[in-house]
Amino acid sequence: MNRNQRFFIFLVLLLVSGLGYCFARRELTTTDSFAIANIFKKQNIAPVLVVGSGPAGLMAATYGSRGGKDTFLIEGNKPGGLLMDTTEVANWPGETMIQGPQIIEKLRAQAVHQKVTIISDQVERIDTASWPYAVHLENGDTIHALTIVIATGASPRKLGVSGEEQYWGGGVTSCAVCDAPFFKNEEVVVVGGGDSAVEEAIQLSPFAKKITILVRKGQMRAAQSMQDRLKEYPKISVLYNVEIKKIVGDLENVTGVELYNNRTQKSELFATSGVFLAVGHIPNSGFVKGAIATDEEGYIAVRDNRRATSTPGIFAAGDIADRIYRQAGTSAGSGIEAGLDAVQFLDDHGYSNQIAAQVQSTLYNPGASQSQAELLELKSMEELQQLISDHPDKRIVVDFWTETCSSCKQMLPSFRQAATEFADDMVFVSIDADEASDVADSYSIMKVPTLIVLKNGEIEDKHTGFLSSQQLSEYLQTVLPEA
Ligand code: NDP
Repeated sequence: MNRNQRFFIFLVLLLVSGLGYCFARRELTTTDSFAIANIFKKQNIAPVLVVGSGPAGLMAATYGSRGGKDTFLIEGNKPGGLLMDTTEVANWPGETMIQGPQIIEKLRAQAVHQKVTIISDQVERIDTASWPYAVHLENGDTIHALTIVIATGASPRKLGVSGEEQYWGGGVTSCAVCDAPFFKNEEVVVVGGGDSAVEEAIQLSPFAKKITILVRKGQMRAAQSMQDRLKEYPKISVLYNVEIKKIVGDLENVTGVELYNNRTQKSELFATSGVFLAVGHIPNSGFVKGAIATDEEGYIAVRDNRRATSTPGIFAAGDIADRIYRQAGTSAGSGIEAGLDAVQFLDDHGYSNQIAAQVQSTLYNPGASQSQAELLELKSMEELQQLISDHPDKRIVVDFWTETCSSCKQMLPSFRQAATEFADDMVFVSIDADEASDVADSYSIMKVPTLIVLKNGEIEDKHTGFLSSQQLSEYLQTVLPEA
């Protein structure tokens, strides 16, 4: 071996030992950051914290709990997620046909049976500067989570055209299963070419007189089996190569849409009283900003052949991390993986049964923040008028809902919480808009959920659409007179 060769070997050895040292340092730093002793300095501990209550979240929580770790699930503003707005599902494993809300009911019951603690709240922000991670809730509580599974899914996309916001609740909606009964014998349009558009059109068919699906391309994206189902519904027709440029109305309700045909390049006014949007979804990942990496559209990328995100101990499952499959079944499957990954992370970092026993007294306890009042249910205008005259000094807040409206049911805990918070100034009542149609008609209710605030029997304020506990509280504060 000559001098040059010896020098070369020396250099290689130096490089290898240098790299080895760097890796060892990195390992040390990582291990230090996740030292199990850190958890003894904290209160409100959650070994596994799942955010989201669709199939991905519920399955992740079930597996976290089955893995022997105390598991908490924050169910968010719309418990159950998108499946709550779906009717028949023909591709859920093992079921020839099942209703979307039924799937959620069963998964939730399974999670509760496995001793998952379900919390009716919303995560505002996650702080990952140190571990355990600080998860800030809307109710003001901070939970210190050892692992987190993000399963917050996606929300319906809007068109972004003129008139959409103005007529939201006045004929524009993204929930056929909720609002179809308000369009009896009306002509309506459904916008979009995917499975959801087909599903919405079918949900409308028992009510509307005529349903036109507006597809912007020359073909639909929906599965062929879904498109074939349309043939069974003579009221439904499809228009291709058309785009909505504007939604028009009489200042209160929709009367038509301005349609542009991208083939003929001609525009026309298309008369309709309802615009049902089914134009895809956007991931609900705003609250993880700064805590984990997302792509430019807000999807979370998972890595290492696991449900791992860019931040150790935080995992993602369901639609928030899936732009390809987006099925209830695949969401549940990825939730299972995320639950297993969370359990594995805890085991790998020394969270043994003995440690779990030691932190029992510091586990998060949702306790008092979950207390809720019962609501008055009224069935007619006569009953409402009686209530108004019994409470001349108070505002009456009426929550209109229907049996088929899942977001109304999802809003019920917020409404009950508000009834407790504002009991001194307001009387809260809930009215089924289908059953008490005389009340719904006299206050021009066209969409649920809708809240009206009555002062001396007159409408002082009206709000259409879902509100979280915090949003409802803030909204009612604006109605109250200054002290
Ligand atoms: P998709 O993303 O599949 O489809 C969205 C549709 O909206 C596309 O046709 C798209 O058009 C169209 N679109 C998007 N933006 C606009 C716009 N600005 N103007 C007009 N049209 C627009 O979303 P879906 O909600 O339909 O489905 C999401 C997932 O859920 C899918 O995986 C689907 O299979 C699943 N699903 C399954 C159901 C079932 O099995 N029962 C029911 C409902 C959903 P383009 O094609 O030109 O991009």
